[in-house]
Amino acid sequence: MWSPSRSPGRSCRSSGAHGAASEPQRNTEGAPLHDRAGALLAPRPRVVGRDLEGLKVPRRSFLPEQPKKRRRRSFMIWESMCVLSAHGGTCVYCSREAESMDHLIPFADGGLDDLNNLVPACQRCNNKKRKRDPVVWHLMTSMAGEWRGDGTIRSGAGARGLSLRDLYLERHEEALGWLEHLEEVTAEVCDYDRQMWFLNRFFHLGYDRGQSSFWSATVALSVFHDTITKAHEQGFPKAEH
Ligand SMILES: [Zn+2]
Repeated sequence: MWSPSRSPGRSCRSSGAHGAASEPQRNTEGAPLHDRAGALLAPRPRVVGRDLEGLKVPRRSFLPEQPKKRRRRSFMIWESMCVLSAHGGTCVYCSREAESMDHLIPFADGGLDDLNNLVPACQRCNNKKRKRDPVVWHLMTSMAGEWRGDGTIRSGAGARGLSLRDLYLERHEEALGWLEHLEEVTAEVCDYDRQMWFLNRFFHLGYDRGQSSFWSATVALSVFHDTITKAHEQGFPKAEH
């Protein structure tokens, strides 16, 4: 409970250990931090420096407001199942088995924390991609085996008669095709009827809180595999039938 006369820390020490004779603590402007009873006084604008004429500059007078830190939300298990099943449960970057969810456009760069920006990824790709743009990441991984990084290419691409420029163009073409494919799958993920089907069937499963329980969605997918496959063949009809 809040107690002005029993507040911990400095106020107790200043009025207790050193008694009334000790100097009261003051802020940078010389104003006392505590009243006579030892309670903390109302905070004042903090002084962060002085301007050219020596005047004190309060923090809030010129610094912009700090933007609120965005927090990732926990996804419902049906949402993870909806995304995972559309991608066949595999990593969108390397086609290995998915072990986590990744924001295609990095969350740190403003990517939405929404199903249309969520893709399954293996842990290795998720860890290595980090905040990279998906196209940059695709080029890095697809060219890593053929491009030495010093302007030369390895024998594989060279044997096909490709120059570094040719290789770049070829990989960019692939990256665009890959993005188009992702767009098609994402359209499936965002299909209203399909989402309603997952929502109505699996809403009771609750939240999938982060990667540690990512498997809850994959386990649910395997348990309901036949049901989902059958519904997929029927175009995911609404569950209200
Ligand atoms: Zn991967």
